[in-house]
Amino acid sequence: MVDLSVIKTPCYLYDLDLLEKTVSVAEREAGRHGFIIHYAIKANHDPVIAGIIRDHGLGSDCVSGNEVRRSIELGFHRNGIVFAGVGKSDEEIQLALGEDILLNCESLEELGIIDEIAGKSGRVARVALRVNPSVEADTHHYITTGTDENKFGISLAHLQSALDKCRDSEFLDFTGLHFHIGSQIISLEPYRRLCERVNQIWQAFNISGYGGRLLNMGGGLGIDYYDPEANSIPDFEAFFEVFAGTLDLPAGIEIHFELGRSLVGQCGRIVTRVLYTKQGVGKKFVITDAGMTELMRPSLYQAVHKIKNISSSGNPETYDVVGPVCESSDVFAKDAILPETGRGDLLQILSCGAYAASMTLNFNLRERAHPVYISEGKISGNAPVKDFRAHE
Ligand SMILES: *Cc1c(COP(=O)(O)O)cnc(C)c1O
Repeated sequence: MVDLSVIKTPCYLYDLDLLEKTVSVAEREAGRHGFIIHYAIKANHDPVIAGIIRDHGLGSDCVSGNEVRRSIELGFHRNGIVFAGVGKSDEEIQLALGEDILLNCESLEELGIIDEIAGKSGRVARVALRVNPSVEADTHHYITTGTDENKFGISLAHLQSALDKCRDSEFLDFTGLHFHIGSQIISLEPYRRLCERVNQIWQAFNISGYGGRLLNMGGGLGIDYYDPEANSIPDFEAFFEVFAGTLDLPAGIEIHFELGRSLVGQCGRIVTRVLYTKQGVGKKFVITDAGMTELMRPSLYQAVHKIKNISSSGNPETYDVVGPVCESSDVFAKDAILPETGRGDLLQILSCGAYAASMTLNFNLRERAHPVYISEGKISGNAPVKDFRAHE
């Protein structure tokens, strides 16, 4: 066992063996159907994490120019990099064009700008049209992206104009359609509905006739935040089978996915030390040295993360586990049941491999939490320094 008591806290602790296993399973299950996976690098852009995924030969799905740059620097194949986002700047579009990166275009207005920039630089932009399919994802409303109320994608009402624009421009190479309906989707039903919608759209708009040869179904497969240790690898088999069984497209269409959370979510934890247990009025607070600056999901969308005290085997007690940041929403868990907890105990917040480190906030000028990696029982990364109770 690795001795965590010597690690400087708070830190992100990554289990690289679990990551390897998860990516291998995802690849194997996608491979059965000839599907291609890109890694949504916004879930975690840590170079070691992304490097392992690159080594498996996955592509990268980016939502900013800097993510495109990071992916290129890390050695992701250029033709495996795709770039989505509702607000790409001219500079970001230029970067993508210069590197011949596929652009997932999200509006008629953006298509016009891509056409203009490509024309001026004498290049042909490879584009896929991100379509808003008007499908409910059954997840938190902050992370649904495929309904009429969301800012993402081209609505069906504008798809015909977008296709015509691509056909009429010599600077636009239309490659196919892109969808992404949301994140942390637990039921496979929304994906089934999405597939049925895609079948209709492909036919009704004669996508093959416009030169459509690829379909990108996005990501969003959820993970088990309630019992992460029992379900550390998502059911990729069932996920991909929905698409294989429901999509009904002409032969030869390449089918792509962009998975973020499901690949990396369970391989990371936050290790944090208890600074105080504070007696409130009718409540006890556990105050940790990690806060919303290291994990903002609970404050941003009431996300649930399982918390363990790995130092104590005392009797169970009920606590609100909170961070040190000056915000009332800086709460990791309300009424969590933990063994009796005291100053200096080490807690682990589970399922922090995705949208934790990559969403780090600079608020309160907090020090950056470093990553630490465990592989085959050995620890590496940030030199473990014991800095707690420096006066002792
Ligand atoms: C965030 C995002 C993804 C990945 O979502 P996950 O829920 O992490 O799988 C995929 N595609 C696009 C366009 C995204 O914005």
